[in-house]
Amino acid sequence: VSRAGGQLTVLPIAAKAPGGQDLSIDVGWFGAANPTRALVHVSGVHGVEGFAGAAIQLQWLDDALPAPPEACAVILLHVVNPYGMAWLRRVNEHNVDLNRNCLPSPGRYTGAPEGYEAVRDFLNAPGRSGFDWFAIKAVRLIWRFGLPTLHQAIAGGQYVDPTGLFFGGTSLEEGPRRVRDWVRQRLGAVTHLIGIDVHTGLGRYGTDALLVDEVPGTPAFEAVRTIFGKSLAQLDPHRSAAYRATGLFGALFHEALPHADVQFVVQEFGTYHALRVLRALRSENRSFHHGDGAAKSTLLKVFVPRDDRWRRAVLGRGRATIGEAWQWLNSR
Ligand SMILES: [Zn+2]
Repeated sequence: VSRAGGQLTVLPIAAKAPGGQDLSIDVGWFGAANPTRALVHVSGVHGVEGFAGAAIQLQWLDDALPAPPEACAVILLHVVNPYGMAWLRRVNEHNVDLNRNCLPSPGRYTGAPEGYEAVRDFLNAPGRSGFDWFAIKAVRLIWRFGLPTLHQAIAGGQYVDPTGLFFGGTSLEEGPRRVRDWVRQRLGAVTHLIGIDVHTGLGRYGTDALLVDEVPGTPAFEAVRTIFGKSLAQLDPHRSAAYRATGLFGALFHEALPHADVQFVVQEFGTYHALRVLRALRSENRSFHHGDGAAKSTLLKVFVPRDDRWRRAVLGRGRATIGEAWQWLNSR
């Protein structure tokens, strides 16, 4: 960051890496000290998914672009869930999915999506991992509910099973809290903010989708579309490979900057089939809570394909998407 002309801030968290090392969220800052417009690029909200976003950020540093225009800043939020990246988990040190954790009030950490009861036992099978008819159970559930409904019930976020998948927590976790406080402190003068939050594991292999929590046709959706073009889709299982979720990380920025115009997109890079990814998540979670930890690299394989073609595609689209946001920053 300093070689590229920026300033580095470190937001430490209490959790440690497997070797006992300290962990932190790193913030690279470029441009105006007190900006009115900001571009925020985010990696690692989902721990193990963070390698793609971090690679895009390193590439951006290497690209050595000119400084942002007057009153503008580019901010790299490097690994929002450093515990998950270090331990190769998707969740944080409290088994919390940080992209379901950012809710506006403490009273909202309750309940589960419609249909969750029907998939609860399938998702959180007790005991050690091993052969347990995953495919047959999965096909039976898809046949009964249809893939979009099932996808929503599974991935929509739940607040009832603390050791289960897609658990949103019971209050705002330390990492997101530090980010929110930092945003309030440093971005108070911002009137326009655009965020790009990079994830992997959803959608077609080697391609990306830009997803927003807005309905197509609304002014908010169209405003983001003018920045990123046609490739934008809604977070909805019936309209894209995604699902509706509460407590998304981008919500923190809306909460911290209530008077600013905040646009947040999730950039999802597809890896493998949804059932393969789910199977890995389920197996890793089971092994973590009930087993010997043998599934440790399970998630790395499905979220970070060892394939140069996939990695080049990620870097290419990552650069292009930041480029579109950069143009927006320069257009005022
Ligand atoms: Zn993710």
